[in-house]
Amino acid sequence: MDDCIFCRIVSGDIPSDVVYRDEYVTAFRDIEPMAPAHILVVPNEHLASTDDLEERHEAAMGRLLRAASVIARQEGISDFGYRLTINTGRNANQLVPHLHLHLMGGRQFGWPPG
Ligand code: AMP
Repeated sequence: MDDCIFCRIVSGDIPSDVVYRDEYVTAFRDIEPMAPAHILVVPNEHLASTDDLEERHEAAMGRLLRAASVIARQEGISDFGYRLTINTGRNANQLVPHLHLHLMGGRQFGWPPG
């Protein structure tokens, strides 16, 4: 999608700090990090949110989680733990309408989230 910022990052149209890429997903550093490590993992195919998921997306979604685990190790945040978050829709404050998994680590998080 030409007007989707994350599609443009996936295609290399917009520069970003990419830390992982494969045939299903791309991961890059969040421009406004909320933790010492804050990475977004996105499917290469445009999907507005988890609300749009169909059976054919299962492989990509499996890879999304597995990539997060690989990147967490790569970033050195696995031993102390990390948070994975997907915001879907208005009540969850989803701002960018291209499904993305937040991988955050390097500090203690609170629970429940705000
Ligand atoms: P969400 O509220 O879940 O939609 O989060 C969107 C995230 O995308 C925010 O944490 C933003 O800081 C991040 N973001 C927006 N534009 C960019 C960009 N060009 N490169 C990296 N991260 C971005």
